[in-house]
Amino acid sequence: MKTWFTTYDQCPECGARFEREPGFFLGSIYFNYGLTTLIVAVAFPLLLFNGLADSKTLLYVALAFVLIFPLIFFPFARSLWVGHDQFWDPRTDVKERLP
Ligand SMILES: [Zn+2]
Repeated sequence: MKTWFTTYDQCPECGARFEREPGFFLGSIYFNYGLTTLIVAVAFPLLLFNGLADSKTLLYVALAFVLIFPLIFFPFARSLWVGHDQFWDPRTDVKERLP
């Protein structure tokens, strides 16, 4: 990754292009949103019904979590998306470097 929110155009090792088409990385939302939702959906009732926090506190913590966690997880979600895509539809243009 170039910065936290930008990605290299191609793999520095094998030259595979990461972004196959415009909007390619929209698929990473599946990983980012899915993990964020899963964590909240599991943690919220666990903490609430075990009496570790009241519902109002949990609501604020969950709200902060769903706003901050996707930003932290952003590059990892993109990596997972590229790996997922490579697994199901392997690139054939490997070793063809961009100009
Ligand atoms: Zn590579």
